Amino acid sequence: MANSAMLADASATSPTAEQHDAVDDVPLGRVVLARLHSGASIPVACPMWCTTDHVNDQSLVFLEDLDHSGPSSHIEVYDDKGVLAVDPMYVQITQDPFSKTNPKTRLTVTDEDGSRDLDLTVEQAQRLAAELIKHGKRVAQLAAQFAEIQATEAA
Ligand SMILES: [Zn+2]
Repeated sequence: MANSAMLADASATSPTAEQHDAVDDVPLGRVVLARLHSGASIPVACPMWCTTDHVNDQSLVFLEDLDHSGPSSHIEVYDDKGVLAVDPMYVQITQDPFSKTNPKTRLTVTDEDGSRDLDLTVEQAQRLAAELIKHGKRVAQLAAQFAEIQATEAA
């Protein structure tokens, strides 16, 4: 449970007690006026990690649709023209604070079209990171093998 201790230490270093959400004791970074599609503006307290532009988000119809999103990591593969060809994985910290089913902060991994996702535990995220390191080494080996094959075929 060393990771839980690390997370607790990180939240303990937040700036002031006033910047904590009373419900979840989440350190809050800012209060923004989220503009609903109807034109109404609602004050929303963002967690410290939220980087969403709630003010200029034109897609917000219902307050329940508001989500905080923060640091992310995604794997993208571009073709030679710089066009995104494959986007196989997206990992991001998110929170749907007005959700009736799951308002808690999550670390989610999503596949290419967003049709499948999984909320990761810290341990699952660490296993995923280890797998990606192994995968990266394997892709480098495949690239080297492919270079040899191309050289053979060119000869
Ligand atoms: Zn936010």
